[in-house]
Amino acid sequence: MTYRFAFHRYSLPFRLSVKTAYGVWPSREGMLVRLESENGRVGYGEAAPIPAFGTETIEEVEIFCVAFGSHLTDEQIAAIPAKYNCLKFALASALDALAESPMPAANPFLAVAALLPSGRAALEEVKTKGEAGFRTFKWKVGIADIAEELPLFDDLIANLPSGGRLRLDANGAWDRRRAERWLERCANRPVEFVEQPVAAHAKGADDLLCGLAEDHPTPLALDESVVSAGDVAHWLERGWTGVFVLKLSLLGEAAAVVERLERASAAVVFSSALETAVGAKAALRLAFRFRGEARALGFGVWPLFINGCFDGPHATPFLRAEDVEVIDQEAVWNALR
Ligand code: MG
Repeated sequence: MTYRFAFHRYSLPFRLSVKTAYGVWPSREGMLVRLESENGRVGYGEAAPIPAFGTETIEEVEIFCVAFGSHLTDEQIAAIPAKYNCLKFALASALDALAESPMPAANPFLAVAALLPSGRAALEEVKTKGEAGFRTFKWKVGIADIAEELPLFDDLIANLPSGGRLRLDANGAWDRRRAERWLERCANRPVEFVEQPVAAHAKGADDLLCGLAEDHPTPLALDESVVSAGDVAHWLERGWTGVFVLKLSLLGEAAAVVERLERASAAVVFSSALETAVGAKAALRLAFRFRGEARALGFGVWPLFINGCFDGPHATPFLRAEDVEVIDQEAVWNALR
């Protein structure tokens, strides 16, 4: 099949700069793509690279899109090298949206985790979000000194609503000693998991992660360690019993990865890559089709952009499958033109 192809590169400032262990991130750069089939159906997709996670850059995505020109075939799409996983995800999403009979959702609704601001600001926000009905909260750590963050963590735990649970995300910022101090502090606290306590690709990182998982009762989650289909296969083969945090936007042919995790009965958090509603819709569709153990969605990131028309549905502790289906990708596309 040959499709009419169009693309729009965007740069969208965040409402609040995103602070992580990698530094401050003021705006999102990405690419929306549009495929139109010979029978007039239209599908949208989004490439939202995060080069710090080992993906291609937005410039590399753009080079491909320019080279494709105004038409694209299934063969060309299949021939995109694996390194260009964000672009592959964008085109797979557009093709999925073109399907005449989409796969039904396996879950009618899924819980959403609330993303707390880093540092002290989390203390008030956890109360506000708790009152709004959220019960799973995510807090970025490894940004300030451990002596500053540990007492804040105690205060945050004290502010959790009844039945609330905290996810900590270190973005690989800790060494073994700091990870151990944190995990000791987490034991017997309502911590759902600690995400990426140590860096993903340092020498001996895999053994360190497995050792920490064995020595501490708090579950660990992999995020930066699982940024490709190959990474997921590697950790399944290693028998990882912790959680997989998947930014589907980074995973290329993500549907196949999701199926593999389903067969392995793995616990999965489907997570935002801070993409617009176009990429989020495609990722959330796959999340709702997952028949395994889906934890609260890591999509509590909206409102995210200064221009709210690029956001997905926000302030909702739960998402229904139909909330995802009504996300208007064409409106987002038109807003960029
Ligand atoms: Mg993470």
